[in-house]
Amino acid sequence: MSAAIYGRRAGLDVLLLEKGATGGQINITDEIENWPGVQHATGPELGDMLRDHALKFKTEIRFCDVKKVELRGDAKVIITDKGDIEAEAVILATGAYFRRLGCPGEDSHIGQGVSYCATCDGAFFEDLEVAVIGGGNTAVEEGAYLTKFATKVYIIHRRDEFRADRAAIERAMSNPKIVPIWNSVVESIEGNGPVDHLVLKNVKTNEVSNLEVSGVFVFVGQSPHDECFKGLVKSSKAGWVIVNEHMETSVEGIFAAGDVLDKHLRQVITAAADGAIAAMSASAYVDEQIHLRSTLLEPESVTAFFYSSPDATQSHLSNEVEKLSKEKGKKIPIVDGYKNSRIVEKLKIELPSVVEIKKGAVSKVTKVVTEADIAKALS
Ligand code: NAP
Repeated sequence: MSAAIYGRRAGLDVLLLEKGATGGQINITDEIENWPGVQHATGPELGDMLRDHALKFKTEIRFCDVKKVELRGDAKVIITDKGDIEAEAVILATGAYFRRLGCPGEDSHIGQGVSYCATCDGAFFEDLEVAVIGGGNTAVEEGAYLTKFATKVYIIHRRDEFRADRAAIERAMSNPKIVPIWNSVVESIEGNGPVDHLVLKNVKTNEVSNLEVSGVFVFVGQSPHDECFKGLVKSSKAGWVIVNEHMETSVEGIFAAGDVLDKHLRQVITAAADGAIAAMSASAYVDEQIHLRSTLLEPESVTAFFYSSPDATQSHLSNEVEKLSKEKGKKIPIVDGYKNSRIVEKLKIELPSVVEIKKGAVSKVTKVVTEADIAKALS
């Protein structure tokens, strides 16, 4: 959403592809108290505010399922269940999903007591006892939320201390309905039909015990939604996308933002900031592509000077080219290869050079060192 807002304000045509509810994971977050300027909102409320903000700037939102993002030459093609889309730049902001526990009885009890969303399913456990698995912020915060409905919430954690923030831990631990069960893992989830108990193992003593609960909420971390672009961009072993500070992925013109990134803090605020940066980088990229195409690749024939601006000698040569260009009354595009490294790589040019390009292909490269070289190359 923030990428859309920034992209539109930068003058880009922004098409936002959405599979489910706009706002993604924010919709399954109960309360947001750490979005600056808004002291309290529910996740869906904040999601709606962000969507309305994106719509205010005339973002086009299309509901579809993205099957694949691929490169066809320089073109980036997004294959969806509603047809293919070609884009000049793509921002991957597909987010993350809650991981499964992987124990027997988990899959077969989904919708029968096993849940990954307290906001969605908590109300089904009014006056019942439930278990939460995990020790991170999600487990502790969602555990506290579940006390609105459940009479008791066991938080089962494999270690003897939570990984969550201190404030979240203090809030949860001061709630008499929350009962932590330390050093324990779930061996299986049992019940004919709905869940009726968990088989737990204490990892310190190996003692196995049964815990009677009607529901189990699994919050054991997240994995990236990278299914539609697996292998396309550089990512960590677990699939989180690697970007630089400009939110550029390893593929030119493809940017990424939000929880799908290989990053330390997955929060609405960090995702929003990533989106803003990604959109501004995408905007600069699109401008650069349009400019380079119209000045270098589209004309029948063009002679251009490529140099690197941090090099004082090369900068001096660029002034000389500008002077000659004026004297001859002939437009000679001057390209700073330092700022436009992609086109330099693409055309395989050494800097500084006078380059003749015919119908988008390099026909002659003259390496230049002195003013005399420039004068000769441009004569
Ligand atoms: P997380 O921080 O990665 O925590 C996952 C928890 O699950 C850990 O305690 C981990 O145990 C446990 N775990 C992992 N695999 C397990 C397994 N197979 N069996 C049993 N336990 C297992 O994940 P998260 O809580 O979903 O949070 C993800 C990110 O979102 C974090 O950066 C978090 O701070 C952020 N977040 C922030 C807020 C907020 O600030 N309001 C709210 C929600 C989430 P170990 O501790 O032993 O590794």
